[in-house]
Amino acid sequence: QTETLAAIRNLPAQTTDGRHVTLAANIEFPDEIPSVLEHGADGVGLYRTEYFYMNRKDLPVEDEQFEAYKNLATTFGDKPVIVRTLDLGGDKFISQFNLPKEMSPFMGWRAIRFCLGRPDIFKTQLRAILRASVFGNLKIMFPMISGVEELRRAKEMVEEAKKELKGRGIAYNAGIEIGAMIEVPSAALTSDVLAREVGFFSIGTNDLIQYALAVDRTNEKIAYLYEPTHPAVLRLVKNVVEAGHRANIWVGMCGEMSSEPSLAILLLGLGLDEFSMPSASLLEIKNVIRAISYETAKKIAEEALGLATGQEVNTFLTSRLKDLL
Ligand code: PEP
Ligand code: MG
Repeated sequence: QTETLAAIRNLPAQTTDGRHVTLAANIEFPDEIPSVLEHGADGVGLYRTEYFYMNRKDLPVEDEQFEAYKNLATTFGDKPVIVRTLDLGGDKFISQFNLPKEMSPFMGWRAIRFCLGRPDIFKTQLRAILRASVFGNLKIMFPMISGVEELRRAKEMVEEAKKELKGRGIAYNAGIEIGAMIEVPSAALTSDVLAREVGFFSIGTNDLIQYALAVDRTNEKIAYLYEPTHPAVLRLVKNVVEAGHRANIWVGMCGEMSSEPSLAILLLGLGLDEFSMPSASLLEIKNVIRAISYETAKKIAEEALGLATGQEVNTFLTSRLKDLL
């Protein structure tokens, strides 16, 4: 039996047999905070920080970023706020960088690659996050990690940023948790190795799907090939969740795939621990999770993993959702 959405706002995201998952919000702008609170989120699972750098000629200085992160940290208190470091490039262009034109921007100098090449910009952001970390429960997440060396280098930069703050006598949370987005197939396939380096994973399916299926996420002409339910995508997701759990870290998802009710059953069944999505979808997903048992979801996921095409998976999951609600 389903409950009305408003009625479950303050109820836990828990299956009928007691498995609890975290439902968090994706945000891009600070003015989205009221909506996050209104929809009863357990925190922020993805804070896209690109907006700081958009529509302006200068770079945001440390203090400006610090104030914004501090505001988030204070607002959410004990609840986690995962700050994703600058994910520039790909479909996120920012004029003031005057970046060289690239033939394949999605496979080019973007996200963590750009940040590692511009330590001045990267460390300014890291120091701002670290300073704000004493005001709440902030975590740092790196986008577009494709291998363990990149991840280690990014972590070193965090350590350097900590040293710089220490030198200035400024407080920070020395134990701030660090996570990696898993959105490149090479990362998904080596997630056992990556898991030893971080406190959590968050699967970025918007990118993972495009890279796994070789389908540009912005190209309308081939949008029909962009299938979240493609067996290759499901296997990658399963691999990441299992590798994370073997290493005792939690695994979330902040790509759009996590906000689709029929897919939520599958993801729940695969063992996903955290679902992060636009606030407006949170209650709908909570409703699904509260309507099913973890045991049933696991069986459904297993059956879905045995199907041959994205279309078959889709049809199967849609009909399971219909049975449920
Ligand atoms: C993703 O790739 O799934 C993701 C959440 O990051 P973005 O959409 O900002 O690239
Ligand atoms: Mg991405």
